[in-house]
Amino acid sequence: MFDACATCFAPRRASTIANAPYKPMSKPRSAPAADVHFRIEPTDLRAHFFSVTLTVSHPTAGQEVALPVWIPGSYLIREFAKNLQQLKARQGKHDTAVVQLDKHRWRVDCTADKPLELTYTVCAYDNSVRTAWLDTSRGFFNGTSLCLQVLGQEKNRHTVEIACTSATAQWSVATGLQSVSIDKNGFGVYAAADYDELVDCPVEMGSFWVGRFKACGIPHRFVVAGALPSFDSKRLLADTQKICETAIRFWHGEGKAPFRSYVFMLNAVGDGYGGLEHRNSTALICGRRDLPRQGDAKASDRYITLLGLISHEYFHTWNVKRLRPAEFAIYDYTRENYTELLWFFEGFTSYYDDLLLRRADLIDDAAYLKLLTKTINQVLQTPGRAVQTVAQASFDAWVKYYRQDENTPNATVSYYTKGCLVALCLDLTLRSEGKTTLDEVMRALWARTNGGPMAEADLCNVLEQLAGRSFNPEIAQWVHGTDELPLASLLATHGVTLQAQSPQLAQRLGLRVTENHGVQIKSVLRGGIAERSGMAPGDEWLGIDVQKQGWRINKLDDVMFYAGTETILEALIARDGRLLRLPVTLTDQATKASSKNASKNTRSGAKLPRQASDTIGLIASAPAQLAGWLGCS
Ligand SMILES: [Zn+2]
Repeated sequence: MFDACATCFAPRRASTIANAPYKPMSKPRSAPAADVHFRIEPTDLRAHFFSVTLTVSHPTAGQEVALPVWIPGSYLIREFAKNLQQLKARQGKHDTAVVQLDKHRWRVDCTADKPLELTYTVCAYDNSVRTAWLDTSRGFFNGTSLCLQVLGQEKNRHTVEIACTSATAQWSVATGLQSVSIDKNGFGVYAAADYDELVDCPVEMGSFWVGRFKACGIPHRFVVAGALPSFDSKRLLADTQKICETAIRFWHGEGKAPFRSYVFMLNAVGDGYGGLEHRNSTALICGRRDLPRQGDAKASDRYITLLGLISHEYFHTWNVKRLRPAEFAIYDYTRENYTELLWFFEGFTSYYDDLLLRRADLIDDAAYLKLLTKTINQVLQTPGRAVQTVAQASFDAWVKYYRQDENTPNATVSYYTKGCLVALCLDLTLRSEGKTTLDEVMRALWARTNGGPMAEADLCNVLEQLAGRSFNPEIAQWVHGTDELPLASLLATHGVTLQAQSPQLAQRLGLRVTENHGVQIKSVLRGGIAERSGMAPGDEWLGIDVQKQGWRINKLDDVMFYAGTETILEALIARDGRLLRLPVTLTDQATKASSKNASKNTRSGAKLPRQASDTIGLIASAPAQLAGWLGCS
């Protein structure tokens, strides 16, 4: 494990400039800088407790406070109040009663306009980008987990003091919040224009590595916690800088980006992956093996995936944090905020994340097509694409995409992957018709909305304006319908041939499995061999009987090894303590390595057959045409 005291990871200076010296380990300030002021102290690292003091200078009589139930960008009700405890209130020298109104809201029996002080603790032990974490090596929090909303005062300026303790004296702080009075390590007072800004600026603290660069003149910091000392920080910085410059130029050409500085906060762990976008920062999590290593000649696939994540979250700085669904114009932190547009905000961001890696010359055409192949296969191998439109999937994100279970592949489609393919189809259609590109459409949308809330009609209007014709039929079919997307024909016009390929065995059988301890069935895909055989999620596939011989299987490949050319067999299944024998008929589709008919269909541009076993590959057949699309020579 990495030792936090290693020389190259010694605490660095925070880049924000202090206006006035901050005294570390101070007591709560008696004169808060704003009407709503938080003091956040990492009190007990071993118990994972942050202590919070909230001072409200001018409360209403019976002031109500609430903690959000979700965090924007992650569409699930998470009930952050479950980690809040010991909420107490004082006014002057007197304790004041606190009445809990529901799962996340309280009323304080206080009088008006007399400073009110609330104290509480928050247990921070979720090592994700969505909530809060505190242990002896690192602290992290989103305001949605730690900062109560003072109802009626959300639009007021908020200040927050990140307090240093003796246990954190060697730590540094990184955040996108504006500093007011901080010490050399970043502890001290920060300010936000309102509650939205406060909770949109997560805070990282610890003995992290920090690097800096400028992109198009804008200062960027990159903070990495938990990395091995051998990680190639120069490469990470240089590659991230290219991504940022490519993204800024994508949106503004030689113009200015809509933020004054930016912070990447990356937490490297044993195994993990994810990110959450914010207005001038992002919180990322990756596996330590995803980071580039000193001495590596070329970028690993894992590192390219990390660069894709960095590109994705950075693109969101424009596409969802500023340009955003009209329904997100004002966030409601008390309940689900529904929109049908996640296919645009997540899907189009997913289209551009890898495309900008290609345009930044961080990957070549072949690597780009490999990433695109993966996305296409993910969609084709999801039977749920015939059940839900990508607009419905967006609306249902709260109960489907974010609450996945064994039936998810059959019930819904990812608005990330299908939304990405909708963007691809739009871009290739626009380029084929020769009047505009999706790049220009995105910039026109930005100009039309002034980088603010938008509706689907805005996209349709911009498409019609720039392309000279209505795209309503395509939007109706691709976004509000479940027909297959015309991928093969559109890719063919841009120098890429789409070919049917042999699916993986699990796909051919209509299964999703894990093989860590025998073959455990996680999902049974609609219309597949496994479903016809009577297999069910939760089953353990123990063995097969073929030609009156029984064989134990430890992984799925064993099925074909023992079956050989036989197509009729029995599966021995363990389910709820019982042993079952299920008849299995392996069709040609399950046993053959390729399908010439499918290949013929897709090459000619016909619709792909709707089968659970669809798998394709992409081949660059006309490099000059391809270069016109990918933007590199
Ligand atoms: Zn995203």
